[in-house]
Amino acid sequence: MADTYKYDHYKSVPEPAEKINKKKKKPKLIAVVDEDNCTGCQVCVPFCPVDCIETVPDEKYGIPIPPVQIRFDECIGCQICARVCTKLTWDAIRMLPTDEFETLYEYTVAE
Ligand code: SF4
Ligand code: SF4
Repeated sequence: MADTYKYDHYKSVPEPAEKINKKKKKPKLIAVVDEDNCTGCQVCVPFCPVDCIETVPDEKYGIPIPPVQIRFDECIGCQICARVCTKLTWDAIRMLPTDEFETLYEYTVAE
């Protein structure tokens, strides 16, 4: 019985992605990492079903453990990374409506 309760606090955290998929259409939401807040722990990386979370190139910050970034054109807006980051680590990922994201970042997400 004790074992059953042991991991209860992980209940709402999804399973890591078993199969890597590809985007089929433009998503409603896009994940954005707050790089100043991200610890670079990479806990979110294996959970992304389309494998579009990567570390920021070394030269950008020149620090041993760089934050991560999202390849926006591949993100399907599933929110899994944001849930994982909030539940397990640091709350460094925001989900933005795609049109808001495109205006804010002056970037057009690929269809
Ligand atoms: S889980 Fe959060 S803090 Fe860790 S690398 Fe991902 S975005 Fe950054
Ligand atoms: S929202 Fe989903 S597809 Fe987009 S980066 Fe996060 S886990 Fe990957």
